[in-house]
Amino acid sequence: MAAPTSYDVIIIGSGPGGYIAAVRCGQLGLKTAIIEKYSTLGGTCLNVGCIPSKAVLESTELYQKATHQFAEHGIDADNLRADLPRMMARKDQVVKKVCDGVVFLMKKNKVDVLHGVASFVDATTLRVAPSDGGSGEEQQLTAKNIIIATGSKPSTLPFITLDKERIITSTEALALRELPKHVIIVGGGVIGLELGSVYARLGSKVSVVEYTDAIIPTMDRTLGKELLRSLKKQGLEFYLSHKVTAVERAGDTVTLTAQGGPSAELKLEGDYCLVSVGRRPYTEGLNLAAAGVELDEKGRVKVNEDLQTTAPGIWAIGDVVRGAMLAHKASDEGVYVAELIAGKTPEVNYLLIPGVVYTWPEVASVGYTEEQLKEQGKAYKVGSFPYSASGRAVAGADTEGLVKVLTDAQTDEILGVHMIGARIADIIAEAVGIMHFRGAAEDVGLMSHAHPTYAEAFKEACLNAAGIGALNM
Ligand code: FAD
Ligand code: NAD
Repeated sequence: MAAPTSYDVIIIGSGPGGYIAAVRCGQLGLKTAIIEKYSTLGGTCLNVGCIPSKAVLESTELYQKATHQFAEHGIDADNLRADLPRMMARKDQVVKKVCDGVVFLMKKNKVDVLHGVASFVDATTLRVAPSDGGSGEEQQLTAKNIIIATGSKPSTLPFITLDKERIITSTEALALRELPKHVIIVGGGVIGLELGSVYARLGSKVSVVEYTDAIIPTMDRTLGKELLRSLKKQGLEFYLSHKVTAVERAGDTVTLTAQGGPSAELKLEGDYCLVSVGRRPYTEGLNLAAAGVELDEKGRVKVNEDLQTTAPGIWAIGDVVRGAMLAHKASDEGVYVAELIAGKTPEVNYLLIPGVVYTWPEVASVGYTEEQLKEQGKAYKVGSFPYSASGRAVAGADTEGLVKVLTDAQTDEILGVHMIGARIADIIAEAVGIMHFRGAAEDVGLMSHAHPTYAEAFKEACLNAAGIGALNM
């Protein structure tokens, strides 16, 4: 084996945590390498997560609009047909384009890319072995700093065997070549609702079985209630407060059994079952013990507030550490660690990491939920504005939704913003911006918002929260 090559920073994993960390390290003049076990760069997000899911959400949303809304706009669109294999082929092209973009970014920022499985030899040395089925020699690399950005994998329940054909995860659900007749979804969280929407829009029957009494249960409760109403109208079926006890496959049929109360057994039969009950941190094969890197009680890499692990010089970011499993959170942490290594004083404000669900209507949230403020005993005010009162929403025939703003009862500072409706995924950025500067609801009320826009609903909700009164309600 050749003598190990030395770097300032080596990053394990090329998802939005790892590749963004690599870009920033390169920009800061650090000699950097990134190791990825798959043949493409981009991790879960670009290959089997954010990007492919948004590609098929977009395609199916267009189809849904064409089949259900065009007539209202005076457009006849008879004999429309969705071609699933073509939609999937487009999605594959989108994925290829964004993954190739990461290869370009690595070159541009002079980051060495190695494909193979990384594991620790000791706290400063990594072994890179060929990935499954790959050929080539094992290599050793050393670095002053190592960033673990190995991400996450889908979780399951102990009694469910994921056969990846009929009992599937999001990865397979994003690559189906036939339209399911009936998809049963375990878990009414983000993945279940986004991918459930995709198949419901194409005509599949979709049943969601959720353990808690609400969908998207970790977001502000108002959002779950509103979204439930909209998705039911779109034909999705929901079984809330149901404890799944079995999922079994016989031939092409999948049967789910759940308990909805002491004597309320539910049995559902479908041709696919999507298990979307969360994701687990991925650290398999890293040999963390050799480097002195410890895990916490949930199997995540243990880190301090600076994302340092229990071993000096080893850092961890993204889905593999505590906090929301979101691409932009992973990227923010990647920049943070790169800048710390370069001697800068970066910051990440975890309270202001927005969450978005790309259903229709879209859902977005930032800051504290009303439930959290109640729990803290905080005195707060609520302002809201319905999309039905927005001229832009009426013109666009997209009147489902609302904006809810939570403010400090004494100071009027915005503490949380929770929105559901058209184009909300982009409007939340305004809420993040104003909260970043610790702005008050009245500040937003004083800012000019172009008319007619969906963003005006945020201003109106702020005027309402500030006690000035919404202008269009
Ligand atoms: P990952 O993206 O998981 O990347 C980790 C990489 O490390 C992988 O490429 C893996 O192969 C590699 N790796 C692991 N171990 C090794 C090893 N030993 N050696 C070498 N390489 C290794 N988030 C959003 O913010 N918005 C969305 O719209 C969104 N949609 C999603 C949709 C779906 C269907 C899914 C599944 C997830 C979605 N997410 C979304 C979540 C998002 O994908 C993750 O939060 C994000 O990818 C985490 O980034 P990461 O860099 O921490 O890890
Ligand atoms: P999730 O945590 O969003 O939802 C899991 C759901 O499953 C919850 O509602 C939970 O109550 C339910 N559940 C748990 N155990 C159950 C059981 N035994 N029976 C029935 N229901 C059960 O997880 P997910 O949807 O799998 O997504 C995984 C991660 O990926 C999330 O952390 C999310 O942040 C990320 N993601 C983000 C986006 C986005 O930002 N738009 C999209 C997809 C995924």
